Amino acid sequence: MIEIKDLHKSYQMGSNSLHVLKGIDFSVKEGELVSIMGSSGSGKSTLLNILGMLDEADEGSYTLDNVPIKNLNEKIAAQYRNKFLGFIFQSFNLINYKNALDNVSMPLYYQGVKRAERTDKAMHYLEKVGLAQWATHLPSEMSGGQKQRVAIARALASDPKVLLADEPTGALDTKTSYEVMELIQGINDEGKTILIVTHEPDIAEMTKRIVNLKDGVIIDDTIVNQVKASDYV
Ligand code: ADP
Ligand code: MG
Repeated sequence: MIEIKDLHKSYQMGSNSLHVLKGIDFSVKEGELVSIMGSSGSGKSTLLNILGMLDEADEGSYTLDNVPIKNLNEKIAAQYRNKFLGFIFQSFNLINYKNALDNVSMPLYYQGVKRAERTDKAMHYLEKVGLAQWATHLPSEMSGGQKQRVAIARALASDPKVLLADEPTGALDTKTSYEVMELIQGINDEGKTILIVTHEPDIAEMTKRIVNLKDGVIIDDTIVNQVKASDYV
């Protein structure tokens, strides 16, 4: 599903260059639930943003579902992003003046899906995350956990090949974090490939494989015994 080889990324700041990713080799098969761990500044978001086609590497190769991701113009990149990828962020990134249903159906609008079908699909995914009753509520009327569920429904709405989550539980208390992880585990159990960036060991243990990033290199990549979030909620 995902294959990257010898990936490098530097940021230029004036005359200084910060080498953030220093030769990353990494692949993810369909159906995996992987966490990328590492302390703040280790390059986790940089890596995830490259995987999410939000940023480009300086060197190395990246193929996503057998498609080489390189030198794509912005239009093609946006098409691939819509088709292949769903994003979940620490701060939810919902549109504040739109209700839950409209937030979830938004990506479908950009894919040219007709209104009736958008609404059906968005309702389906809101039900899936347990928020059918909240369809007409604004984000400001919801708890952090509910907002993240809406964001997860939105990410699922276009049935992407891969879900990418950058610190999805970073803004949530422990109990709510585990509830969100329970939902993510359920989505993975149905076959969805999911990558989660986190610096929290308990969250990483709820995935099936932990990749440890330190100073821009992978220092460890291990299949783990998945802790079931449902045991903790
Ligand atoms: P993490 O997500 O693991 O905390 P990041 O990938 O966000 O780490 O950042 C890795 C390093 O790159 C940090 O030192 C950060 O300050 C730097 N960095 C990230 N984004 C940029 C940018 N757009 N410009 C310059 N430096 C950046
Ligand atoms: Mg980060």
